[in-house]
Amino acid sequence: MTTSTLGRPNALANGLRILGDEWAMLIIQRGILGDRRYTEFKDALGISDAVLTQRLRELADLGVLRPVGDSSGRTTAYPIGIIGRDLWQVLLMIWDWEQAWSTASPPLPAMRHRSCGAVFRPMLSCGSCELPCSTSDLIVRWGPEGGWDRSIPRGGRRRRGSGPGLFPATMGVVGNHWSLAVLVAALWGTRRYGDFQSTLSMSPAILSERLRTLVAAGFLAEHPSEQRTDWLEYRPTARGTALLPVFALMVTWAERWFGRSDSPSVLLQHHTCGESLRPQLLCDRCREPVFGADVLVAESEMWQTNSIQPHHSQQ
Ligand SMILES: [Zn+2]
Ligand SMILES: [Zn+2]
Repeated sequence: MTTSTLGRPNALANGLRILGDEWAMLIIQRGILGDRRYTEFKDALGISDAVLTQRLRELADLGVLRPVGDSSGRTTAYPIGIIGRDLWQVLLMIWDWEQAWSTASPPLPAMRHRSCGAVFRPMLSCGSCELPCSTSDLIVRWGPEGGWDRSIPRGGRRRRGSGPGLFPATMGVVGNHWSLAVLVAALWGTRRYGDFQSTLSMSPAILSERLRTLVAAGFLAEHPSEQRTDWLEYRPTARGTALLPVFALMVTWAERWFGRSDSPSVLLQHHTCGESLRPQLLCDRCREPVFGADVLVAESEMWQTNSIQPHHSQQ
């Protein structure tokens, strides 16, 4: 892929656009918790009017929020819609990743599984064979609508400023579209500088800087190439690889709501059973499926998502 012409954005571009935007993710989380009014979002997040107004508009354009108005046509509330609620699995896995890997203090509180009562960690599993799906069991390929030229979100990104930082370690990396693209490419098997450059069509200066950032943040590690020891390879660390379930869930979400079922951008396959991955989350303690309404944080309810059916038909 050497052309600089960007193709029509695919479903994955929408997923990465939201995943790479901490404010958008935090607004969605507040929406899942029940916030709907402008002032509720503003008070909960300490977000500036300009940023909040812009994000509410973007999320409404995507159908994640479903604004309602009064008789004069003025928008009075921004309740979350089914598309936004369906991001609960992604938020849950980001939460879990932060708990396991972030060095930020204070750590996020633990999650409790309502059905079994245990403090638990969600495990990615395959909806077809019901077995856990580790990162080495996951085969990721481009589909017909794939390719980086169509998957990287468009538009310049201003600096986000210092938000409340609920997901500081995740957002430190994925809050930048290029960092996110480099990390995802590495998770999907790209190793060498030249391959990142040709795969992602990035400028050498930006690529070098992003690789340095990802190495410094502990998501990638440098290794001498097996072919030529004077070449460097960039391989995901355990910390970086642990983000793969977040991306698998985000890809699934994006395809479900923005993709074409006959022509996906990304194909996820469970190696163990060979089926297309339909992700589901299992409790690592009782091994039962986890639903949004089953998750408690501290002693309060984290997700009020009774209306969600986490396993939509993909059709
Ligand atoms: Zn399977
Ligand atoms: Zn359980």
